[in-house]
Amino acid sequence: RIVYVNGEYLPEDEAKVSIFDRGFLMADGVYEVTSVLDGKLIDFEGHAIRLSRSLNELAMRNPISKDDLLEVHRELVRLNEIDEGLIYLQVTRGSDGDRDFAFPDPETTEPTIVLFTQSKPGLADSPAAKKGAKIISIEDIRWGRRDIKTVQLLYPSMGKMMAKKAGCDDAWMVEDGFVTEGTSNNAYIVKGNKIVTRALSNDILHGITRAAVLRFAKEAQMEVEERNFTIDEAKAADEAFTTSASAFVMPVVEIDGVMLGDGTPGRIAPRLREIYLDEMRKAAV
Ligand code: PMP
Repeated sequence: RIVYVNGEYLPEDEAKVSIFDRGFLMADGVYEVTSVLDGKLIDFEGHAIRLSRSLNELAMRNPISKDDLLEVHRELVRLNEIDEGLIYLQVTRGSDGDRDFAFPDPETTEPTIVLFTQSKPGLADSPAAKKGAKIISIEDIRWGRRDIKTVQLLYPSMGKMMAKKAGCDDAWMVEDGFVTEGTSNNAYIVKGNKIVTRALSNDILHGITRAAVLRFAKEAQMEVEERNFTIDEAKAADEAFTTSASAFVMPVVEIDGVMLGDGTPGRIAPRLREIYLDEMRKAAV
């Protein structure tokens, strides 16, 4: 694999980052994951805008212009011959060669930027999406700025492991009785023709896929309600699903052992997945 690190394209075993990098020592960094379909980028614009916002919120310099970032994404797709897959991008605060809780001087400290590809044939035509996901609920004990896409992913990783241990696919996190989001996706329930999802705030990541899917749902005359919902309301819903840039729209068929509807993906989620994939392929760059 050819990867990108601080301005250079290199074979993955030649790419290097300092052991003092604050991304490594303190999870002081942000990331984005953009999917690739037919060798083209899905919603690059959305990811580039959110990257700028995350960097801004952490008083970190943006090391690359949007045009150059697009060029790097495209070059990695070309060099690694990615037809379907993902591009991972990470920017960390870098280092001044020492460890300190205080940020190093931004004037003299270059952020570290790394990108690599992951080939995932069958990403769109996914057997998992046809089956639907089984989820468990866990307490949300993350920090209070979940709107910033930091690389601080230990608790979501643990949540994924708790789900696996329970024989399930993923976990939804619950705070004060209300579902916040999935370990790596936004959460939705469906009652009749109405889609319910938590409103945007610092409590959840502002999903790029969420924004597109809600737009398509409204265009398809589906009713959308942005409000909190409890895990009990979710268990009593007709359908549920998640959205993310790497799994698009994923139907949920079981929550904490309770089957939703007849335990198959339902009506709304598969339709939204189809609309999303069709529209986003057309708009891909
Ligand atoms: N919430 C969390 C916690 C996530 O990690 C992700 C994906 N990284 C999402 C939501 C979905 O965001 P997006 O649609 O931009 O991938």
